[in-house]
Amino acid sequence: MEAGQESHENRFAIRVGGALRTFPGATAFKWGLAMPDLRPITVVNVGYRSTNSWVVSAGTSRLLVDPGWAGWAGTLLATLDRKGIPVAEVRHGLATHYHPDHASAAQDLKRRGMRLIVVEEQLDAIPRLARWMEPADRYTTIETHDNIVLSCADSRAFLAGIGFAGEIVHTPGHSDDSVTLVLDDGRAFTGDLTPEAMVGGEDPAVVARSWQRLRDLKVTSIYPGHGPPRAMPTAVRAAPE
Ligand SMILES: [Zn+2]
Repeated sequence: MEAGQESHENRFAIRVGGALRTFPGATAFKWGLAMPDLRPITVVNVGYRSTNSWVVSAGTSRLLVDPGWAGWAGTLLATLDRKGIPVAEVRHGLATHYHPDHASAAQDLKRRGMRLIVVEEQLDAIPRLARWMEPADRYTTIETHDNIVLSCADSRAFLAGIGFAGEIVHTPGHSDDSVTLVLDDGRAFTGDLTPEAMVGGEDPAVVARSWQRLRDLKVTSIYPGHGPPRAMPTAVRAAPE
């Protein structure tokens, strides 16, 4: 294909190993999956120690939302095996945020072939996570040179390339680096985004904006980082003065 043949809309940019590269849209469909058609998406929880780890699958293309605790990757692998999910098919992973219970096993999974998707808003959180971890946590430092670094704006094209209709949105509130995977079928993987009715130390305006963002995207059900899936909560209205 000649350079310049595609319109701007048909190109997307992605950072690979620190270098920004652009690709024609068609190339997105070769990324990790040969088939460009979007299949029905299934969701299985393989979490442990009260933190959910969601395997989101479109056929054999599988995305792990929240790799979980450091030192417990073996438990997660055993759970995958028990649920009939070949680890070799878990080719991509996303941490909703870089707190130890959600993200600290990421490098252990990368060593099993998972590519880690990092949203630009999360880049600073990875070295912060390393500073929290103690030797007893058996934390494997997350390498940063080999991740797939995406802007939220590019996430839809990337996800389409691996078989998923949806996007990743920045949903701060619980933490600045919190993101949500939103599928076009109405499901959203929100990590620890604080329910509006339970806001404590968080900035309520930031939390409310993140939830509003999800409502604007027509989210109907929530797959949180802890606890069972639930219906999208209705907006909490400020009490009248
Ligand atoms: Zn958290």
